[in-house]
Amino acid sequence: MQVYGYGITEKGSNFVPVTFDRTDVRPGEVAIDITHCGICHSDLHQVDNDWGNTIYPCVPGHEIAGIVTSVGDGVTKFKAGDRVGVGCMVNSCQECEACRNHDEQYCSGPKSCTLTYNGTKAGDGSNTYGGYTNAMIVREEFVLKVPDTISNEVVGPILCAGITTYQPMKHFGLKKGDTLGVAGIGGLGHMAIQIGKAMGARVVALTTSPNKRDEILKLGADEVLITTDADAMAKAAQSLDMMINTIPVKHDINPYVSLMKPNTMLLLVGNMNGFDSVESGPLVFNRIGIAGSLIGGIKDTQEILDLCAEHGIEPITKLVSIREVDGVFEELRNGNPGYRHVIDMQTLKDDADGQKNARTIADPTRGAVVGRAA
Ligand SMILES: [Zn+2]
Ligand SMILES: [Zn+2]
Repeated sequence: MQVYGYGITEKGSNFVPVTFDRTDVRPGEVAIDITHCGICHSDLHQVDNDWGNTIYPCVPGHEIAGIVTSVGDGVTKFKAGDRVGVGCMVNSCQECEACRNHDEQYCSGPKSCTLTYNGTKAGDGSNTYGGYTNAMIVREEFVLKVPDTISNEVVGPILCAGITTYQPMKHFGLKKGDTLGVAGIGGLGHMAIQIGKAMGARVVALTTSPNKRDEILKLGADEVLITTDADAMAKAAQSLDMMINTIPVKHDINPYVSLMKPNTMLLLVGNMNGFDSVESGPLVFNRIGIAGSLIGGIKDTQEILDLCAEHGIEPITKLVSIREVDGVFEELRNGNPGYRHVIDMQTLKDDADGQKNARTIADPTRGAVVGRAA
């Protein structure tokens, strides 16, 4: 199936219209007409090759919402017309311990997990292209049902920011009445506040931006702690039962550790760049753990979608057209706006010029099969 979209053909280039071939629907797979795709901060990191692993051409997008157009033989959960979502993964071995525990994101099988874009496709070892496109085909197990009360416009960020913050709260046992700290109030943080509240926690938002205070309180946070205010930080020492730290850049973690009660966990979901130093004394003397967490499995992703529907939780989104993507990336490079840009894919489908001039991209890794089976 020939599809079209927007991608980056080499590091530093702007987005250009591209066209490429997706495998036709096979047994167990679902074909999806994409209606919306969120723009995630990791799309920016990937496109800029900040993690050193980007394969160009790169077609990002892992906050995908759409409508099923057809299903392959044997598909039982979906039918044409269903509203569905696709998040950060499109495949995994389904056999290893992680997969059996519904933690496909940690799949360690010989076929490992396949990321929605810039991932290695099981079967032929080729590169995956994501949701900045008009259509995609995904195996049934990795397609999510969108609850009736959640619109396609807002579903995408739940599949990334929502699950990324929900999963560690669940895994590490956030309890009703606990005080949850949420550090960094952007795409991830604004979801974490709402999810923490839905799980019955008292939520303290930690930010360096006093001008975000009203917005944060509107999201339901019980308290805003300005982390540059030394007095307020000292007063809040040892007050948190759990922290979700979404800050996406290297920062001094030690002031955040000082906020943790004994016997608690400080959970990292944003920072992939390490820390200059972590003082071990406060960890040892108070049995405080620091752990990381990566997105979440499909079962938990469906769970957070349903929880968001039940509690009326929605990400704050701003619809943009496909032609605005370069501008959005520039905005994200300059800081976190505190909401999610979502591409209205109708603007791609209406972009006749783009489709006419689309560059055909072949997969640079196709042929370099790395011993994976479909
Ligand atoms: Zn993401
Ligand atoms: Zn696995």
